[in-house]
Amino acid sequence: MICIPVMEPTQREALRAAAKSAVLADVIELRMDWIADGDVSELISAARRASAGVKVIVTCRRREEFLLAQENLPALPAKERTGAAKMKLLEKAVLSGADFIDIELAEGARAISRMRSLCHKRPNPARLIVSWHDPFKTPSLNGLKKIFDACVQAGADIVKMVPYARSLSDNAAVLSLMDYAKDQGREIIAMCMGEKGQISRILAPSRGSFLGFAVLPGGRPSAPGQLTLREMRAFQKLLSGRQRFFEPPQGDLHFVLLGNPVRQSLSPLMHQAAFRTMGINASYSAFCVTDLAAAVAGIRAMNIQGASVTIPFKTAVMDFLDEIDADAAAVGAVNTIVNDHGRLIGHNTDWSALMDALREETQLKGKKFIILGAGGTARAAAYGITKEGGRPIIVNRTPEKGRKLADRFDCPFYPLMEIGKVRAFGLINTTPVGMFPDSHSSPVDSSILNGFRIVADVIYNPLKTGLIRDAEAKGCRVVPGLEMFVRQGARQLNLWTGRKAPLAVMRNAVRERLMRHEF
Ligand code: NAP
Repeated sequence: MICIPVMEPTQREALRAAAKSAVLADVIELRMDWIADGDVSELISAARRASAGVKVIVTCRRREEFLLAQENLPALPAKERTGAAKMKLLEKAVLSGADFIDIELAEGARAISRMRSLCHKRPNPARLIVSWHDPFKTPSLNGLKKIFDACVQAGADIVKMVPYARSLSDNAAVLSLMDYAKDQGREIIAMCMGEKGQISRILAPSRGSFLGFAVLPGGRPSAPGQLTLREMRAFQKLLSGRQRFFEPPQGDLHFVLLGNPVRQSLSPLMHQAAFRTMGINASYSAFCVTDLAAAVAGIRAMNIQGASVTIPFKTAVMDFLDEIDADAAAVGAVNTIVNDHGRLIGHNTDWSALMDALREETQLKGKKFIILGAGGTARAAAYGITKEGGRPIIVNRTPEKGRKLADRFDCPFYPLMEIGKVRAFGLINTTPVGMFPDSHSSPVDSSILNGFRIVADVIYNPLKTGLIRDAEAKGCRVVPGLEMFVRQGARQLNLWTGRKAPLAVMRNAVRERLMRHEF
């Protein structure tokens, strides 16, 4: 199992991180020593709401047991909780349904024994982790065994031991300690901190460590040397022999599109054209879905190798998958499912496709882009622009929705009526305004387009929207929606087959069909 620590400086940020991590990890650890104004019951409820199956560890670590010399750490709360306050907090965590309570060996026999009684008194008992950390060194194997024995004696259901690796051989001592625990039929969480300890983090879960720890990309590590969730999952697969470096699927392949409605979708046409060119014997069919749970169960039962997901299921589908790629989790939407030997993994290719299309025309780093709209596609655009080092500015018709998205990406917001006041390098329309049959409408007055060097539209039917025509007339560089559409499909094909998709073939197939529709 993989655990993501939540160690944000405020309750608000911690609630967000707990919900996000709960979807991705098997276990989350609430580090109440960092969450200054933390309400532990509220945090546990937020994690459970995000994922019913996630397990929650609650701990409130002593300062001397972790390194203060790490980079990237938020400011510690000015005051460390007293021993009594810590006990009160952990007691509240037990009563609020935490699955595990982690208390340090250094808290002393009385405190540990009290906590153990409380954990075990509950009808569905919480399990007690007795932990020990040394942020400076790794003792000898004998020294580690003595500490392990002390944790067991103190009443641990699970022992956690994390010393700092100064040399690679320190990893060997910790891995041997796991054999010692196994011989006694005891559960242990063990690994080394620090750059030189990374190998123990990779090997620990496969050597019997009850948990491995990982950090979300862009998240804060709770200990030096921690790997990202993606790295940990990749190593786990590799060590369990499930990793496909490139193992092309064999035999007839089947892919589906899940949406409602799907009648107008051009994805089947585009993907079938690509499969023909790639010489892959595959079917791609669109399904108008009314019961999403049943549709995903069907993918598993019929061993469908992959699926595209479209409106209105891009967010809802996340609850039915086994794993969500970190980018898709950050966007909050999945438009692609990969069936990796029975494990359904959700990805999002919308944001990267839009960035690919924009990058064909300009560099994005340091540039301001107005994002028109505040729905799912706007979120994908804001995520992509931020990730590329650009600066999004949200402009939306409904201020509450626009402000909420702007808060999420910590960027400015303007109501649609005030768009004329905003200066930016580019404009990206993510609203449906201008979509066939309303092909002559534009979401903004053409007079404001003089101010932009580049204008992108996500609408691809018609091929040239009113906005794109107006922008061309003003001399702006343009990125029509077709470019995003074919690239999100090409990235899907790449995820499903491991091969590069024939972009030009896909573009021509869609363009020809749209031209026939229009004229
Ligand atoms: P969504 O979640 O419903 O969001 C739509 C946004 O557009 C909302 O913020 C809404 O504003 C705004 N909007 C709607 N009608 C408006 C109007 N008349 N005037 C001003 N603003 C208006 O939709 P979505 O999932 O983001 O999809 C948006 C579009 O992107 C769709 O047309 C979809 O087909 C297209 N798309 C294209 C691609 C591609 O590959 N090219 C990929 C994905 C999506 P309020 O907040 O005020 O309601």
